[in-house]
Amino acid sequence: MKEATLVLVKPDGLKKSLTGNVLTRLSETKLEIVAAKIVRVDDKLAREHYRGLSKEPFFEELIQYIKGELHERKKVMAMAYYGGGAIRKVREIAGGTNPEKADSISIRGQYGRITTKGIYENVIHASTDQRDAEREIKLWFQPDEIIVDLYPTKATAAEGTRQAWA
Ligand code: UDP
Ligand code: MG
Repeated sequence: MKEATLVLVKPDGLKKSLTGNVLTRLSETKLEIVAAKIVRVDDKLAREHYRGLSKEPFFEELIQYIKGELHERKKVMAMAYYGGGAIRKVREIAGGTNPEKADSISIRGQYGRITTKGIYENVIHASTDQRDAEREIKLWFQPDEIIVDLYPTKATAAEGTRQAWA
């Protein structure tokens, strides 16, 4: 069954110019990129994205990290990958959460590091399971930013009020 997964190139990945490497590694999956954009992450988006970790001792550092406050790059690249086994395939190439323990040829194993404060700067985010993937993709993308129909949509009062190019 086809499924989608959210990938973020985190601020450390952008600062280290790893976007090309990440895309090349992920192309091994033969999955399709169905959405992509550069995003400035505000506090609300950061906290919503990592809301499941809000009780962790490293939460505030993690929020600073994903907002780009630990790097000079206040942006992330967000993408949705789509295809059979997308979630597992991307997680496999991403590698384990702790970059020191991740498979050494995984993205996180190759390019990640642990900061002196103990935060895992691990270059990319990848959704864990279908529930998380749906929640995360809906958080990061609007329906019209994704080129396939992933989830049900509804008409809203705001329809037609989006800015158009002059
Ligand atoms: N993280 C960390 N220390 C930990 C656990 C997590 O710094 O002990 C950071 C790390 O950047 C990780 C993110 O928090 O990618 C989200 O944690 P999660 O457990 O969801 O790991 P992931 O799904 O990203 O592998
Ligand atoms: Mg996770």
